[in-house]
Parts: sequence; structure tokens; C-alpha cells
Amino acid sequence: MARYKKAYRPLSGMSLIEFQTKYGTEEACEQALFRHKWPKGYMCPRCGNKTYYKTISRRHSLLECQACGHQESPTNGTAFENSKLPLVKIFLACFFLAETKSSVSAVLLAQYISISVKTARNLLRKLRTIMIEADSHYKLSGNIVIDEGFFGAPKSGKRGRGSGKIKALFAVQYQPHKGHNIPMFLSVMKIPDFTGGTFKAFADEKITSGSVLLSDGFPTYNSLSKNYTVISTTDAPDDETSPLKLVHLFISNAKAMFQGTFHGLGAKRVQGYFSEFTYRFNRRDSKTPVVEHLLRSCVKEGYTNVPALCI
Ligand SMILES: [Zn+2]
Repeated sequence: MARYKKAYRPLSGMSLIEFQTKYGTEEACEQALFRHKWPKGYMCPRCGNKTYYKTISRRHSLLECQACGHQESPTNGTAFENSKLPLVKIFLACFFLAETKSSVSAVLLAQYISISVKTARNLLRKLRTIMIEADSHYKLSGNIVIDEGFFGAPKSGKRGRGSGKIKALFAVQYQPHKGHNIPMFLSVMKIPDFTGGTFKAFADEKITSGSVLLSDGFPTYNSLSKNYTVISTTDAPDDETSPLKLVHLFISNAKAMFQGTFHGLGAKRVQGYFSEFTYRFNRRDSKTPVVEHLLRSCVKEGYTNVPALCI
């Protein structure tokens, strides 16, 4: 019985039914955006006043500052601004992207929420861009195991590092515990080549300086030794107790997800898929469901670099 319960537990504690009960109406979705946008209560972005009149515009509520008359809807400045889709559909797309372990394809999403495949593709692309942005605020630190992954079919029949496949660096922060290595956080970046400059750009962006980097001994990692402690391990790649096994597991899990859900990868959009993969993993142990994190990211990142969901 215990096994049955465990097998059917949702990924991060929120089932589709619970989600729909909570966010099944436009009003409920709008209230959620309000809470994420003003977690400490409404504050006018122009004058800082905290009181407002509420009116209903054609699609969304409009809040008018009682002091200066500035008008703003809860969707303004977020990734939801200008979207023609009902909020309930975008929220559901967030659910399927965040809470399904194997991700969701545009074709499936189109069926799930009754939109065209083209719209589903655009929506997923933008949500993944938000995940890339959200990812960019975090760095790994401490014990890190690092390795290269190869995705897609080789261009010229070559294998491994010299092939024309999509190349990526995988870095896993781990914690040794009673003879095991527990994965804590993950970072994945598509890279153009295996030069020292590329490795340095990855490490600068994703790993706190002073961390310990463990690798399989590929010489380019030594170029990082100025800011990191670089260790080459002689562990066999399939040694269960080796941290290398951990990073290899993530690489094969990513391959399985891409193979099963997307039937191969396009080089142009691949970073979005990597960031989706890491976004879910890095928030798996949070008490807040991953989808709530994504909704918050849609509000937060919408203010900065992510284009609005103009679909
Ligand atoms: Zn004001």
C-alpha cells in the first residue's frame, strides 16, 4: 500500500486536480499574479502609495492609485502582459511544464489546453526563456563534479568530443554522505567548443570561485585552476560510489527526456530544454510546488529580460 501511495505522489506535492481547484478561474489566476507581484501588498510603482481603487477593464482588473491616479493591472510588467490567451490556459501550461517529470511537447500541450500547436510552441519557448533567466541568478558552490554531454545525431559519424553533436557542460553540486554522493543542485549549459575560454565562461557564470571541481581528467579543466581547486579522478565511470557516476546519470536522464518527449533536439532552442531540466531538479525539494516557483518567475522575470507572452 505504501508503495502505491509513493508511486502516485505528484512530483512536488500538487496534483492537477489540486491545481485546477486553486487556479480554475481567471479571477483566481489574477489574484495569484497580484500576490506574486506585490507580496507585501499593493504599492503604486510611481508614488509608493499603498491604497487603490479597483475597476474591471475589458479583460483584467485595473488598480488605480488613490494618490496619483496611476493605473496598472496585475499582469502589467509581467510575462503575462499582452497575452491574448486566458490566464487559466497559461497557468495550466506552467503546470504541465513544471510538474511533469518528463516535460511536455507542444503537440501534447496544444491538446491539453485547446490551443494551436504554433501557439503552444511559442508559449513553451517563452516559459523556457523565463526558466533560463531564473537559472541565471544562481551559482553552484562547494563540491562539484563536471563533465561534457553530447546530444543529437553526429554530423559526420564521429563519436565523443570531436563529433558534430550538440555539446553541453553538466555540473552537479553534491554532498558526500555515508559513502554516497547526494546531488544537491545542477547546472547545464550548451557550449560551442571545448576550449579553455568556453570552460572559463561556464565556470564564471555558474560556479562560485573557490569550489572544488572534480572531473574525469579532460585536460581543458586544468585551465580553471586559477579560481578553483581542480581534481582529476581515476574512478571508473561506472563506479557506483564515484561522483562521476552522478553526473553521468544526469546526462543520461536528460537524453531520455529529450528522446522520449521531443524526439530529438534543435540546436537553436536546446538551452531552454536544459534550463527546464535543471529548473525542475533544483526546486524538487522545496516545500513550494515547482509550478508556484514558475508562476513567481513569470512575474519576476517579466520585469527584466524576458519578452511578454504576446500570443
Ligand atoms: Zn501612485
